[in-house]
Amino acid sequence: MINTSDNIDNAEIAKFEELASRWWDPNSEFKPLHDINPLRVEFIRQRVDVPGKALLDVGCGGGLLTESMAHLGAHVTGIDMGKAPLSVARLHLKESGLQVDYQRATAEDFASRYSHHYDVVTCLEMLEHVPDPASTVNACAKLVKPGGTVFFSTINRNPKAWLFAILGAEYVLKLLPKGTHDYAKLIKPSELDSWSRNAGLTIHEMTGMHYNPITKHYWMAPGLDVNYIVYAKKPDA
Ligand code: SAH
Repeated sequence: MINTSDNIDNAEIAKFEELASRWWDPNSEFKPLHDINPLRVEFIRQRVDVPGKALLDVGCGGGLLTESMAHLGAHVTGIDMGKAPLSVARLHLKESGLQVDYQRATAEDFASRYSHHYDVVTCLEMLEHVPDPASTVNACAKLVKPGGTVFFSTINRNPKAWLFAILGAEYVLKLLPKGTHDYAKLIKPSELDSWSRNAGLTIHEMTGMHYNPITKHYWMAPGLDVNYIVYAKKPDA
C-alpha cells in the first residue's frame, strides 16, 4: 500500500521536466495536447457552466487546459509535481494575462487540505503517469463538492491501444517521445469506472477521443478503445 502523499513516480515527473520548455510550442512533443485541447474544452463546456466556478486542474503541466478554463471565466487552481512545467505555466500567464493559482502538490496532499472545495476537478492525461491511479481518483472525489463534477481522461489498455497510442504515436508517427506511455500503466474504462464508484462518484458518460493519422484530425465519438474522457459527478449530500 502506497502512502498517499507518495503517489508519485519520479521517472514520470522527470520526463515532463525535461520537455517542459516546449510546452506551449504547438509543433513540439506537446502537439497532441494542443490538438486535443479544443475538443476537451468543448466537452467540459457542454457539461458544466464554467464561468465563476472554482476549478482545480490536477496534473496541469504547462497549463494548456488550465488556461482555457481560466479564459472561460473559472477561478482556477492548477497543481502538478513537476517544477519546470509549473514554471512554464506561471510564465505563460504573463503572456496570456490570465489568472491561475499554480501550486506544486499531489492530488492527495491537496485533498487533505481542501476537501469538498471545488465545483469542478479536471484530471486529464495524468492518471496513466502515477503509481496508484485509484488513489488519485479518490483524492479528486474528495476535492470536489457534493453535486460537483469531475473529468478524467486517459488511455485504455488493450492491443489496439498499444498499437495506436504507443507503437503508432511514439515509434511510427513520432507524435510523442518514445517512452511517454508505459503499457502496463494504461487504464481500462472498467478500472476507472470501479475506482470512481468506490470513491463515491457517479459516471455519467465515457466517450472516445480519436485520431486519424492521414487527415491528422482528432474528434470525439463513442468507442473507448484508445483515448477516452470521462464525465463524473459527486451526488448531492
Ligand atoms: N493535464 C495536462 C498535462 C498532462 S501531462 C494536460 O492534459 O494538458 C501529465 C502531467 O502530470 C505532467 O505535467 C506531470 O508532471 C504530472 N504528474 C505526474 N504525476 C503527478 C503526480 N503524482 N502529482 C501531480 N502531477 C503529476
